[in-house]
Amino acid sequence: MVDVKELKKSFGKLQVLNGISFHLDPGKILVLIGPSGTGKSTLLRCLNYLERPSNGIITIGNVTVNARAAKKKEIYHLRSNTSMVFQNYHLFKNKTALENILEPLLSVKKLSPSFANAEALRILDEIGLSEKKDSYPSQLSGGQQQRIGIGRAIAVNPKVMLIDEPTSSLDPELVGEVLHLLYKLAAKHTTMIIATHEMEFARQIADHVLFMEHGQIVEEGDPMTLFTAPKKERTRQFLQKFS
Ligand code: ADP
Ligand code: MG
Repeated sequence: MVDVKELKKSFGKLQVLNGISFHLDPGKILVLIGPSGTGKSTLLRCLNYLERPSNGIITIGNVTVNARAAKKKEIYHLRSNTSMVFQNYHLFKNKTALENILEPLLSVKKLSPSFANAEALRILDEIGLSEKKDSYPSQLSGGQQQRIGIGRAIAVNPKVMLIDEPTSSLDPELVGEVLHLLYKLAAKHTTMIIATHEMEFARQIADHVLFMEHGQIVEEGDPMTLFTAPKKERTRQFLQKFS
């Protein structure tokens, strides 16, 4: 489903990703952890070519793109297999909750208006915000806005959801509702790659964890092993800060 080989990314002289490789089967969840500035967001953004990688081969679903010879059409196809959830929600401020979810259904999925409307209402129900359908983002809490962000990402029915620190802009009391929604998607076997600093959430939701630092994978493994018996001293040091 997702296969990444030797992914590299530089910004000028700054090498941010130094050769990342991993594989993720359908329905599985990969969690990225690591200090700030390590390249987690850049990795997620490279996977759908929001940032163009300097090197590497990315396969998502039925499309493979080699950074050394990426064609526009392939990039378009790769993007349409993904959707992204951002730390700062990225909602349309002048659209209601319903309209925010309608937008990808109409513009990306190209559903007819009546079909799109029914689907958007179904998604609002799924994310628990039916009663807020006519509210604008400014009238919603951060947790509600992020649930709309996740609703938009679900709407295009992607092969993989790329989720970048979904709760790090939220007040602590609002984190739970967003994590709860992600657990719900996990129970439906949604394929996801999630960068997070919520270690308990990471431990519970992940099928596989990558601990990254300086654009490299320091250690990876199943969450049970990585969180309770890390092999590398550096991993242990990092995790200690959260216990
Ligand atoms: P993380 O998400 O792990 O905190 P990022 O991927 O955001 O890390 O950033 C990794 C490094 O890349 C940082 O040093 C950051 O300053 C740098 N970086 C990220 N985006 C850009 C950009 N567009 N231009 C230049 N440097 C960038
Ligand atoms: Mg980041």
